[in-house]
Amino acid sequence: MSDTFDVIVIGGGPAGYPAAIRAGQNKLSVACIDGWKNRDGGYAFGGTCLNAGCIPSKALLESSELFHRAQHEFKAHGISTGSLAVDIAAMQKRKAGIVKGMTGGISQLLKSNGVTALQGRGKLLPGRQVEYTAADGSVRTLTATKAVILASGSIPTELKSLPFDGTHIVDSWGALDFETVPARLGVIGAGVIGLELGSVWARLGAKVTVLEASDSFLAMADRQLANEALKQFTKQGLEVRLGAKVSAAKVKGKSVTVSYSDAKGEQSAEFDRLVVAVGRRPYTEGLLAEGTGVTIDARGFIDVDGHCKTAAEGVYAVGDCVRGPMLAHKAKEEGVMVADQLAGLYGHMNYDVIPSVIYTAPEMGWVGKTEEQAKAEGITVKTGVFPFVASGRARAMEASGGFAKVVACAQTDRVLGVHIIGAMAGELIAEAVLALEYGASCEDLQRTIHAHPTLSEAVHEAALAADKRAIDMLNR
Ligand code: FAD
Ligand code: AMP
Repeated sequence: MSDTFDVIVIGGGPAGYPAAIRAGQNKLSVACIDGWKNRDGGYAFGGTCLNAGCIPSKALLESSELFHRAQHEFKAHGISTGSLAVDIAAMQKRKAGIVKGMTGGISQLLKSNGVTALQGRGKLLPGRQVEYTAADGSVRTLTATKAVILASGSIPTELKSLPFDGTHIVDSWGALDFETVPARLGVIGAGVIGLELGSVWARLGAKVTVLEASDSFLAMADRQLANEALKQFTKQGLEVRLGAKVSAAKVKGKSVTVSYSDAKGEQSAEFDRLVVAVGRRPYTEGLLAEGTGVTIDARGFIDVDGHCKTAAEGVYAVGDCVRGPMLAHKAKEEGVMVADQLAGLYGHMNYDVIPSVIYTAPEMGWVGKTEEQAKAEGITVKTGVFPFVASGRARAMEASGGFAKVVACAQTDRVLGVHIIGAMAGELIAEAVLALEYGASCEDLQRTIHAHPTLSEAVHEAALAADKRAIDMLNR
């Protein structure tokens, strides 16, 4: 193997592996070094997303959702099942199979695109050199003639007073690997990850309590959507305690007692398992040698400009280790952008149009500005909301909760944001992403033909409702 490449990528998650693949497609010689190790000690490409994040969590969400529907919805369809049981071991086996298939697929993709895939650790040295420590401990110095791309990702934030113990107090990865359904599950943090994992185990039968320090539920979301979500979760039995600041936890025997303070004073709660989901932090340990010129901000993110250039010549950083939302699709597009720039091609990210999806049931998906953000910016807005209860397809699916909401500028008609809560919101939001990317007006959405009967008609009708011209509901 040569020790010199055009491009060396450190990290093989959703930021790193697409950067390497695109660089390969662009006829650059490229190496991708990844150090992810699974619990069995084996290396696997794909990073957090494929091994311990997006994919395993969605596998379990799907299984738990099917169980929940069989329990609660089949009857309405006239289907009786007899008694239902959950086999967690089988569910986990299915999840592991999906992860294995997907991570193996990445190794194949890297190979097919001419990428030299290296498993082990990478450390940036000054002057676009990389120290590569292989699995067997051997060390080599590699050189990148064009660029090094840092894509080292993020890790769960640990609360000092509640260190992870791997059994009772776990991070999100631990919560994806439970072997039994905990009778009482505590989740600290009502962010995306906390809600998704809480939903999984609640649907499988756990009594889930989510403790959230903020007084506001899903502060980053449109208020109307967040209020609807809280209403639906509460109805499902997921207890969300807002304004609950967790300060400590004590494991005694088989249970863990959590101390927290809220408006009423000091409180405590007892659980069988506790998931700490208070956010993630950029991971850069052992990544940078002295004198590379790469700088790190106060929160630990690698400093980059709008095109992911670091302060060091020829060194870029992408994905969770840099500013912006910690999302796999954001990471991927940044990686691709840099790989295209390096080949002299056009590479650009539109940071204003990054969709957010929360894969609970109901799902939530949004893009662009919330109604509150638009108003705070002094924009006169018009909004249209179409409830799924008025959608024939949603009714047929026994999924009539939630709505689609369009936020547009009253003066220019431009669509500013779309917010959806309901079945398949994560799929439905794609149309809105395209609309915002193309600078669509509300009228553009209104004049676009949507197939009937589909859930997507809700977006169409919401756009019509913004001008009080909805057909399938009363315009108020
Ligand atoms: P990572 O995926 O963390 O990958 C970084 C890789 O670099 C890792 O393999 C790491 O081992 C390796 N590495 C680090 N340092 C070195 C080094 N020095 N040498 C060699 N290798 C190194 N996002 C979504 O968009 N949708 C979702 O549904 C979603 N669900 C999630 C669910 C959970 C439970 C979690 C935890 C996260 C979820 N995310 C989701 C977030 C998503 O996983 C991350 O945004 C994404 O993985 C970031 O990609 P990345 O490549 O920047 O980092
Ligand atoms: P996210 O950053 O989206 O993953 O969400 C993490 C959530 O955890 C945020 O909503 C925080 O307010 C919440 N959080 C952080 N620290 C604590 C704490 N000590 N107790 C309760 N909630 C917390």
